[in-house]
Amino acid sequence: MFWRIVGFLGYQLAGATAGWLLSIKADNHVAALWGCLMGATIWFVLDALRSVRASRYLRSDLVADVPPVGGVWGDLLERARRSFRAKDKERLDAHNRLHDFLSALQASPNGVVLLDDRACIEWCNQTAATHFGLDPRRDLQQTIGNLVRDPGFVAYLARREFDRALLMPGHDNTSSRPVRLSVQLHPYGEGRLLLLSSDVTALEQAEAMRRDFVANVSHEIRTPLTVLAGFVETLQTLQLSASERAQYLALMAAQASRMQSLVSDLLTLSRLEGSPAPDFSHRTAVSGLMQRLEQDARALSAVMGGELSHQFQFDCNFPGRVGGNASELLSAMGNLVSNAVRYTPPGGCINVSASAAGDGRLVFEVRDTGPGIAPEHLPRLTERFYRVDRSRSRESGGTGLGLAIVKHVAQRHGAELSIQSKPGQGSVFRLTFPSARTTEIFLADSPDD
Ligand code: ADP
Repeated sequence: MFWRIVGFLGYQLAGATAGWLLSIKADNHVAALWGCLMGATIWFVLDALRSVRASRYLRSDLVADVPPVGGVWGDLLERARRSFRAKDKERLDAHNRLHDFLSALQASPNGVVLLDDRACIEWCNQTAATHFGLDPRRDLQQTIGNLVRDPGFVAYLARREFDRALLMPGHDNTSSRPVRLSVQLHPYGEGRLLLLSSDVTALEQAEAMRRDFVANVSHEIRTPLTVLAGFVETLQTLQLSASERAQYLALMAAQASRMQSLVSDLLTLSRLEGSPAPDFSHRTAVSGLMQRLEQDARALSAVMGGELSHQFQFDCNFPGRVGGNASELLSAMGNLVSNAVRYTPPGGCINVSASAAGDGRLVFEVRDTGPGIAPEHLPRLTERFYRVDRSRSRESGGTGLGLAIVKHVAQRHGAELSIQSKPGQGSVFRLTFPSARTTEIFLADSPDD
């Protein structure tokens, strides 16, 4: 301001001096006054020009450099430019922060929907869009209650009691592919709502499987226990002959051994699920496995068939080794062989073979002339406790876990289990081990373990 006054006075003084010098001979002192007025007018005109340039610059988008206005106007423009620049930077930073924040919400495995105080969608991530069947662009500003029409959700939204999560079907829910969502609303800000959703289908299925498993195990154990308890009571209360006692004790022993088999299969399954991947550098000679299987099969057949046992053929055409856990492999192959023995009536034929499939794969096959299995049962045979014929399985000492164990062992060793069977035409159970598990071992001439 000081320099502005000085400038104004300077122009007046220069005008007055010029007027006085020009009129010195005419001795006209009023000319100095006119000169002073002239100087003031020139200053005003120049100042008005500067102000016009300054206002034009301020009305522009301020990206250009400050025009060379000079004086206080130039100073003002420079300050305005700096302040606008700082504001622009702040706005850009805030925009970037919001973008990062929304990207983080977008990456969340849970669905996130931001609702305003009228429950209209302000923003939603792609996961929420999939969960509720929303379009993240088109459905903005739409009321959530109009788009998510599940009655449970509509009632939950209307009740406005959000302390518990709601379980509801997802948008893609079908009877063959159920999708279950856990949904919860969280109030925030002034009447706004944060809607979080997560897919709990797998969790619910796991929980249902766990419940089924516990129910199955309890049922399997309760039956022999009830029988045992009955026999114990009979022995305690009735006067029995020696042969009757022996008969009851034999039946009790059978029930006890059934429980033992069940517990042992359960332990095997839980070991398979909980233990790390097998050590594939550990090699087992296939011929050794086949010998063990043959011994066990003949022993089991003798117990089951008495005089009339099965006709066995064991062929080992695989002179190599297979990598993995030997006891797991023996248990899986042994389950297939023992099923063939248990389900094939005495006198029937059982062929067990191990052969190379040309490219180094090992094919282990158990073929029997038993009753065969109807096609509708085939896909479910490896489920725990699934049996085609419950009473027959129990009679033959089955636990319903044998093929579940085989499937687990096969998966852990990268092998494939295939089943071919037709009622009345026997069954073929085949385990195919990939060459990666056998070829190198097959070629290597290292000593057997
Ligand atoms: P289990 O202990 O009952 O034998 P598994 O899991 O080993 O249980 O087998 C499941 C069901 O598959 C059996 O209950 C039986 O009905 C059927 N099954 C398995 N192997 C054979 C076979 N070789 N011949 C006929 N049915 C079989």
